[in-house]
Parts: sequence; structure tokens; C-alpha cells
Amino acid sequence: MRRAFDPDRLVIASHNGGKVREIAELLAPFGIAVVSAGDLGLPEPVEDGASFIANAELKAAAAASASGLPALADDSGLAVTALGGEPGIHSARYAENPATGERDFAWAMQRLQIDLGDAADRSAEFVSALTLAWPDGHCESFEGRVRGTLVWPPRGSRGFGYDAMFLPDGHARTFGEMAPDAKHAISHRAVAFRLLIDSCFAARG
Ligand code: IMP
Repeated sequence: MRRAFDPDRLVIASHNGGKVREIAELLAPFGIAVVSAGDLGLPEPVEDGASFIANAELKAAAAASASGLPALADDSGLAVTALGGEPGIHSARYAENPATGERDFAWAMQRLQIDLGDAADRSAEFVSALTLAWPDGHCESFEGRVRGTLVWPPRGSRGFGYDAMFLPDGHARTFGEMAPDAKHAISHRAVAFRLLIDSCFAARG
């Protein structure tokens, strides 16, 4: 039996501004006040899980236990078929440019293009695992996926991360070219979100 979500406040267990903004937008219709783990100055746990769900659970559980509030975490990434599913759970680390030590997605997309070489199969999927954790340690987790193709050169300056290279199946615009509402209608995070809402937020309308 899934646990329903009652409280009025929630910590978004992320220090990634792009993600916090998207999750806050997806939560907006439910009248829940959100605060981010970054705003609360919570430490970032080491993401050493072996799957998207394992990492989402450890981030949500750490934020719930440190804040005493329910916490929602997303662990996500881009799984590229020709790279055996990489960078996958390593998508953030893959974007660290050794020349600067910073995350640099223009550089990371170039790295992907080089790693793909002349692969005929440019298919990929974005994956999002969402975990809602309560301070008593209870967790509910959900996973969403969206399939697409990696384009070169990247297109569009909206969104974040690898969005400009990802053309979702059945669409003419990359995630980087789409308005936020259009991305929210089909994204991996939105699919996981719908599952979470149907299971835990249904009573809030
Ligand atoms: P983590 O979930 O914080 O470990 O980071 C996952 C990484 O995957 C992010 O830094 C982004 O680079 C990438 N990523 C996850 N979701 C998206 C998305 O919706 N668009 C573009 N990149 C994404």
C-alpha cells in the first residue's frame, strides 16, 4: 500500500538549480510550499548507489532525516544505447571538464559526439527516478523514461544539461528548443511525476 502525502511543506533534495526549478513547477498545482536542500544548506550525500532509484532514495532519505521534513529527490541521466547505457547514473560526472574541474555541458555534448563516433544507432533515453522520503525513513519511488535520438550539432538554449542534443521520438524540437510546458508534458521527470502524483498526491487534487 502506497503512503499518501499530507504535509504542506516539502524539501527538494537537490542542489541543481535547473532540476529544482522543474520540480517546483511540476509541484505548483498541489499547493505545497517547497524549499531546496541547497537553500537549507544541507550537505550533498555521496551518490554511490548502483541504480537511479538507489541514488534517488539515498538523496531523499538524507534530506528528510537532516531537515525533519518530507523530501523529494530525483536521480536522472541520459542512457545512450551505443555506449551500453552510459553515461547513465554517471551523467553529472561525465560532464566535468578536466581542464576546468567544472560541469560544462557544451563540452559534455561534444564528448558524447566524440564517444558516439560513427555509430549508426544514435538512440538514447532520459531516465528519472523520483523518491519521496519521510523523516521516519519510509520511501516511495517511481521511474520514468523518454526515448529519443541524439542530434548534432546541439539545438536550442532552453532547458539544461543534455537537453539541446536530445530529440524526443515523434517530435521536431529538441528538449533545448521546447518551451518548458512542452517538455513537462513528455519528459522522463514528468512520467515519473505522474506515477508519484497518482500514488501519493491523489487526494490533494
Ligand atoms: P543527478 O541526477 O543530479 O545525478 O544528475 C543527472 C545529470 O543528468 C544532470 O546533471 C544532467 O546533466 C542530466 N539530466 C538529467 N535530467 C536532465 C534533463 O531533463 N535534461 C538534460 N539533462 C538532464
